Amino acid sequence: MKICPKCLLLQEDSQFGQRRSRPLGQLNSRCRKCRASHTLAYFHSTYKPRRIALRYEVILKLGGKCAHCSFADERALEIDHVHNDGAEDRRSHSSAWGSSLTFLRKVLADTTGAYQILCSNCNRIKYCETVSYKSEEV
Ligand SMILES: [Zn+2]
Ligand SMILES: [Zn+2]
Repeated sequence: MKICPKCLLLQEDSQFGQRRSRPLGQLNSRCRKCRASHTLAYFHSTYKPRRIALRYEVILKLGGKCAHCSFADERALEIDHVHNDGAEDRRSHSSAWGSSLTFLRKVLADTTGAYQILCSNCNRIKYCETVSYKSEEV
């Protein structure tokens, strides 16, 4: 049994959950419910607006339109790694929202021209071409 410092309720250990990347047996300090509501609140109040603003900044820095077809509706624009060596970057494109701010900051700080803006269509086409180019079986 353990008291959650946030809601001050005494609860079963199972309500806290094991801490990842810690020695076995360590529990999270706050209960599941409090952790979930904190994450959600953070997502809506801090993370989401920040990410949208940062993403917009990145798009503007990279020209504000698709590098191939000049499509300019930012809702369908994506940040692309020019040299296709961004396996690590591509992972952070995903919904793992913890790493995505880091990715956007990295793009914003980049001065080597490693990134460009592509629209969804051009990005998809580039991806298909890259995959068939790299794997001879396709
Ligand atoms: Zn709690
Ligand atoms: Zn395009």
